[in-house]
Amino acid sequence: MPLQIRRNRCLAFLRGNLLTLLTIIGVVSGTLLGWSLRATGHEWSRREVMYFQYPGELFLRMLKCLIVPLLVSSIVSAIASLDLSLSGKVGLRAIVYYMTTTVCAVMLGIVLVTTIKPGKDPDYKQPNVTKVIKKETLTTDTLLDLIRNVFPENLVQATVATYRSKLTFDKNDTKAIKGHLETYKIEGEYQTGSNVLGLVCFSIVLGITLGKMGEKSRPLQNFFHSLSEAMMIITSWVIWMSPLGVFFLVTAKIMEIDSFQELIGRLGLYFMTVLLGLFLHGFGTLSVLFILTTKKLPCRYIAKMGQVMATAFGTASSSATMPITIGCCDEMGLDPRITRFVIPIGATINMDGTALYEAVAAIFIAQLRKVEMSFGKIVAVSVTATAASIGAAGIPQAGLVTMVMVLDTVNLPAEDVSLILAVDWLLDRFRTTINVVCDALGAIIVTSLSQNDIDKTRAVQNELEHAPAHELAELEKGDH
Ligand code: ASP
Repeated sequence: MPLQIRRNRCLAFLRGNLLTLLTIIGVVSGTLLGWSLRATGHEWSRREVMYFQYPGELFLRMLKCLIVPLLVSSIVSAIASLDLSLSGKVGLRAIVYYMTTTVCAVMLGIVLVTTIKPGKDPDYKQPNVTKVIKKETLTTDTLLDLIRNVFPENLVQATVATYRSKLTFDKNDTKAIKGHLETYKIEGEYQTGSNVLGLVCFSIVLGITLGKMGEKSRPLQNFFHSLSEAMMIITSWVIWMSPLGVFFLVTAKIMEIDSFQELIGRLGLYFMTVLLGLFLHGFGTLSVLFILTTKKLPCRYIAKMGQVMATAFGTASSSATMPITIGCCDEMGLDPRITRFVIPIGATINMDGTALYEAVAAIFIAQLRKVEMSFGKIVAVSVTATAASIGAAGIPQAGLVTMVMVLDTVNLPAEDVSLILAVDWLLDRFRTTINVVCDALGAIIVTSLSQNDIDKTRAVQNELEHAPAHELAELEKGDH
């Protein structure tokens, strides 16, 4: 090939992928700088680390600020513009995909942790754990809260707070039941953090309603459509901050870690088990599913997700990465009505990486604590790990909090979470990357499966647009 052509192709590739390359360079150089700053031997104070993190924090804040308006407007406008039966089919396909992949991830995690047995060590001394998470609720409460949050009582409040039950213990309560020394009151409180699940649910209902209202809802549909477009334009500006943002976030994170000693030994083996699981799930299970459903190879698509993966790794938040995931799907030429419908929902409830990690971590801790795992217990772990991943917010280390629920099923105390704390910050980044890749692949799969239906509806719409006026009047009469 002549040199000139080769150079032109190279330039075109660089131009097309400049931002992705810069973001990946940001992650790599952030890691290197973090290590070098540690290697200087200087004890970095919290304030110094905060200064390093500051530009990254600003980037994260910009992304987070887009989440609520983008999530609501995207879902409402996407569902309203889809034909009702089509949005039902798309929604069903997305849910089947989310459930299938999550269950596969949990099963893969269980197979790996029970064969590798990272926590089995006869000489292992039972560690003392520090209380990091105080147990304030039962698993049942957590599950009930999940459903409560699906139905927010106040929409404005849902944008800033999430409902949570709290058990208040009272040792002097005379109503103590026989066999229980303590009794408790069940109280509810609102915690800071958007109730994304509630917002998603309300947006779906609003979208369906607008779709049903037809022409009468046009102004509101246009409003949500423009809002979502405007948010995507802001995203395209914020995205240029990502190389610098992830660079500083990664550097500061590496600087603040106490030691990397934990990556060697038992905890290292656990780390490798989760990592292997994430890798096999991302490049094995998801790829096979992709090939089976779309009859195409996923490599080309995964290669286009570099920007999304680097941002997910740098921010450790699938919610914050959501605007970038939608942008990436737009660039791949997917139908925006489908991506704006399935990506925000996926970012909220579909977390395969988290589900796999929850299952592996719970069984690893059980192995360390020498708790026998019966088949029944393993099934219970799979079910709660799936629920815990659905309930986990798309924010850094949210999985660690819902982990308490999984530990509860094997009768392990919530404090045992501290056994895996040391490596969680790094695992979080890898599992978030798989979470977002799974969402993006899901959008491609659902689009491909829905293509026939989309074409059919488009054909009907075309026919309607070109039908003579008297035929339209006849049709409308028939509708009423
Ligand atoms: N950080 C993850 C996410 O945002 C959730 C978790 O596993 O902690 O997807």
